[in-house]
Amino acid sequence: MANESGKKVVILGGGISGLAAGVYALLAGYEAEIYEKNAIPGGECIGWNRKGYHIDNCIHWLTGTKKGTSLYDVWKKVGALSDDTEYAKIDSFFSSEYEGKTATLWNDLEKTQRELIEISPEDKDEIEKFIKHVEYSKQCLFPAEKPMDMMGVMDYIKMSVSMKDMPKVMKEYGKISLEEYGKRFKSPLLQRLMTDYLPKEYTAYSFLVSYATMADGNGMIPMGASLQLSLRMEKKFKELGGKIFYNKPANAINLDGKVANSVSFADGSSVSADYIIPTVDTHVLFNKLIPSSYMPKELADAYKDENAYPTTSGFQVAYAVDVNFDLGETTFAEIEPLKIGERVFNRMYVKAYGYDDVFVKDGKMVIQTCISQTDVDYKFWKNLSKEEYDRVKQELTDEVTKRIEASYPELAGEMELLDTWTPLTYERYCGAYHGGYMSFVTTPGAKQIRLKGKLDGIDNIYLAGQWTNSPGGLPVAVASGKFAIQRILKEEKRSIKI
Ligand SMILES: Cc1cc2nc3c(=O)[nH]c(=O)nc-3n(C[C@H](O)[C@H](O)[C@H](O)COP(=O)(O)OP(=O)(O)OC[C@H]3O[C@@H](n4cnc5c(N)ncnc54)[C@H](O)[C@@H]3O)c2cc1C
Repeated sequence: MANESGKKVVILGGGISGLAAGVYALLAGYEAEIYEKNAIPGGECIGWNRKGYHIDNCIHWLTGTKKGTSLYDVWKKVGALSDDTEYAKIDSFFSSEYEGKTATLWNDLEKTQRELIEISPEDKDEIEKFIKHVEYSKQCLFPAEKPMDMMGVMDYIKMSVSMKDMPKVMKEYGKISLEEYGKRFKSPLLQRLMTDYLPKEYTAYSFLVSYATMADGNGMIPMGASLQLSLRMEKKFKELGGKIFYNKPANAINLDGKVANSVSFADGSSVSADYIIPTVDTHVLFNKLIPSSYMPKELADAYKDENAYPTTSGFQVAYAVDVNFDLGETTFAEIEPLKIGERVFNRMYVKAYGYDDVFVKDGKMVIQTCISQTDVDYKFWKNLSKEEYDRVKQELTDEVTKRIEASYPELAGEMELLDTWTPLTYERYCGAYHGGYMSFVTTPGAKQIRLKGKLDGIDNIYLAGQWTNSPGGLPVAVASGKFAIQRILKEEKRSIKI
């Protein structure tokens, strides 16, 4: 079917959104070329090897693993999932510990409710309300059939029927931050359970929806890890006739009036295009590839207001430990205060990766921890000289090691350090704004960023990537690639069914 139309789509960035745009472009009959600055596909959805161990960067949960949802169909179409995909056998979202007690958010909501009430009978009403609204939140499915601005009345009616209880969730949890929400619980352990997983600035409803996704079997982890998922998409793209070029950082999109007719690369080469889909971080796009005057106002306003639109990244450390240590899956624990830059952290998690053989070697498995970082932390790292950066990273790694050993005395002296990385790693590798994992955090009161996919004043640039729709993440990335092609099809007055 490739190049039925005789038109060429040039895609910048070979992450999940770029690979998805590529596959859908080919399915729609266009010629498609992807240009990626790194040597491998995947962008943020990758992993890497250290000392023979595989470290996973991305998938803690993959929204859209439930068969029958429109997002599942997209993951299938791009080659990321198939009906035979195996998933990690994990039966909980995560656990939190405090003063010797543990609370777990199980995928089984009844079990969670029972156990949380046992832990804190005085929070019974709040716990029951939480579980009831998590159950409602299972209705919140990512609409991946077409962009919302292309939906008709019937689509909206269908959506409001299928998500009929979501307004109750939004009313109760849509305007309150997680930090505030945690205070509704009397138990200090449950307060921590509610605020451990997502940065405290997030609206509480985001947390309920995340948990509901797991509890509904719609947020599983495909076996084989993140990089393999990206490689499956690359394979699909190539099988359909697409061309992907690595080590090709784009330097500029060249405009001739209202038409973007070519892209120039750092190596001095250039390529012409009928359509250009930049999937690179929007900060790179509007500060490097095209003049910032084209930046949509809502995005420009968001960059100016870090309180309403924070970003989130992480300081992460990976180790190898004996696979027989029973560390649970993901467990947050109180730690001796740890100062990183200007902020002090009192909680930290350990995630054990023994659930997938890809993370196990010679009887040892990978464990990782991540201390959530935001804009102010990014600036701390950024302001260090190269020598200071290396020194601080090493010192903090030692501090993290000590704290893990304090939480798990059986690990003392048993952890082999594999790697440490910071928000600057994501900036260097992907051009990620402030090292951001996702798009802007959804905070109470701030308008969600939802770019319309085209730029005023340019006819043939179609935007994709996680920054086009906050809060970003893999579902937004993959769907945005499809949506960009649907926008082109609509412009050409062709059917948008692909
Ligand atoms: C630690 C971590 C954990 C995460 N966990 C989850 C999770 O559990 N679930 C979830 O849904 N999401 C998760 N995410 C988020 C998810 O990885 C991202 O939302 C998604 O991968 C973004 O895809 P993208 O294609 O929009 O952007 P990117 O992955 O950033 O892809 C953009 C690509 O453009 C390339 N590029 C940049 N500049 C240029 C240039 N000038 N020329 C050419 N190419 C260029 C970059 O190298 C990159 O490959 C996580 C992210 C991180 C970092």
